[in-house]
Amino acid sequence: MPFCPECRDKFEDRIEVCPDCKVTLVKKLPTPPEEGRKTDQPLVRIAIAPNEPIAKMWAGVLDEYDIRCLLKGIQLGGWAAYAPAFEMRHDIYVLESEVDTAKEVLAPFLVDQEGGKF
Ligand SMILES: [Zn+2]
Repeated sequence: MPFCPECRDKFEDRIEVCPDCKVTLVKKLPTPPEEGRKTDQPLVRIAIAPNEPIAKMWAGVLDEYDIRCLLKGIQLGGWAAYAPAFEMRHDIYVLESEVDTAKEVLAPFLVDQEGGKF
């Protein structure tokens, strides 16, 4: 099944050129660069913050150690935009290679949370 590398449409086998883009169809679509980078290293959840301000604070702490992290709101199973951020738990994800450092950096904060409402 050939694909158009421009519009990423699928075509029948007998078609060789995309009628819209006038480019030769290819057998396989190349992986978009961003996707390739994402799968490069899996993200690992290292902590759950009880709300967004805390999640942001932890992200700031990680940032000081040059650790990039991803915050993901848990409520509704979606991204932060959907619910009031202040009462939404957030998963903290970091790249797999930085898990150990990130956990060390956040350790003092995570201990604080244990006595809380988790
Ligand atoms: Zn096309």
